[in-house]
Amino acid sequence: MDCDLVIRGGTVVTPDGAGDYDVGVAGGRIVQLGGDLTARRTLDASGAVVLPGGIDMHVHLSLPSPPVPGRPAWVDDFGSGSLAAIAGGITTIGNMTTPWPGQSPAEAIARDLAAARAAAAVDYVLHPVLADPSPAAVAELPGLAAAGHTSVKLFMVDPEFEERIEEVIPAIRAAGRAGMLTLLHCEDSALVRYAGAELLAGGRGTVSDWAESRPDLAERAAVERAVAICAATGSPIYIVHLSSAAALDSARRARARGLPVFVETRPLYLHLTSEVLAEPDGGKYIGSPPLREPADQAALWSGLADESVHTVGSDHAPWTLAAKTDPEQTVVTARQGVPDLETMLPMLFSAGVRTGRISLARFAALTAANPARLFGLFPRKGTIAVGSDADLIVLDPKRRRVIDGAAMRSRAGYSPYDGAEVFGWPRFTVSRGEVVLEDGEVTASPGRGQWLRRDRTPAAPGPDQEGAR
Ligand SMILES: [Zn+2]
Repeated sequence: MDCDLVIRGGTVVTPDGAGDYDVGVAGGRIVQLGGDLTARRTLDASGAVVLPGGIDMHVHLSLPSPPVPGRPAWVDDFGSGSLAAIAGGITTIGNMTTPWPGQSPAEAIARDLAAARAAAAVDYVLHPVLADPSPAAVAELPGLAAAGHTSVKLFMVDPEFEERIEEVIPAIRAAGRAGMLTLLHCEDSALVRYAGAELLAGGRGTVSDWAESRPDLAERAAVERAVAICAATGSPIYIVHLSSAAALDSARRARARGLPVFVETRPLYLHLTSEVLAEPDGGKYIGSPPLREPADQAALWSGLADESVHTVGSDHAPWTLAAKTDPEQTVVTARQGVPDLETMLPMLFSAGVRTGRISLARFAALTAANPARLFGLFPRKGTIAVGSDADLIVLDPKRRRVIDGAAMRSRAGYSPYDGAEVFGWPRFTVSRGEVVLEDGEVTASPGRGQWLRRDRTPAAPGPDQEGAR
């Protein structure tokens, strides 16, 4: 077949296995696997693995506007965030779209759609954040789902979650009936506030106490509550950035009962433990939940391998190093979030596949197929199959790089992994058939990214079904 592009000589990996064959691309899609292929352009994948483009369903990108109280102040927008994604082999992102004060979820979605249309260079979806579970906001959910925004995010760690729980539970039920996946930040608000207040009262509470200020018992309590809400409503739950062995145990038990509870973890927990918080610039590792202990890290790696963790999400939420290491911060006021879009996949490959902790097939499931399925994008995204979008990474297992955040695309200007030696970087990144990374250079133009209309999450109950009890 005559194609636009052929990726030749690589080992092609999907969750179903690996094989040595060429990939033919035309019209932005994969049109042939193996066999006779000619094309105007060939990418040399010899010695490399060909993986589905990474899908990172958890990023926080801001609009390029000056910080305003009440608005997030992440330093990356859809433009710089896209460049970081492409350099790290990610071709689809999911942004947390938080209403600004006075905005409804639908208004926030319209705002971010306009911003992303102008600047995004990778494909994207938007997750409406239900910051205020008012009847008017909840009434918007079916319309948002019907328009293709089939997820909603809530923060159990916000005091409002508990204060307004009688509105929250029906909202989660409504989301599931509309075909939405409910994303939950699982930390118990009262227990976190209690731990922080106790530290401050005892004359402690600097950022070096961050882990102690948000104990795993608070995460486990929230996960247990989330599981109960899932059981009561029948709505599927996706736990973002799960961090501890205790919380993973709760999620595993829920799965064993057949409940639609899904687990994302964040790379930070796979590569670092709480001891780094004691470093002089420990603020640069602050995110919530906090870094945990070696036993938690081992449990998460086991979960990645045994399929009790379903996805990885970068939770890319970048600040400058100066903001992160501001000595005025306490455990109550610390700026949360780290840059990770460019580093997530290569580091998972280096520390996971290269060491034998996870298989290549598992890597492809965690970074592409699983998020595509859960978020209603499969099989357009998340796999290497005829008819799917030609989103591909040619990853060179021997390509070595020492992490230097100052030389990376995020405007954060640092990485929590600065100095780490990482093997396994993209030789090429391909998005809908366009080569967007080659020779270490991102060649994508702003605005080429497309918004993706999503199907219902397959984990949702049918519109007429009652939830499990
Ligand atoms: Zn987040």
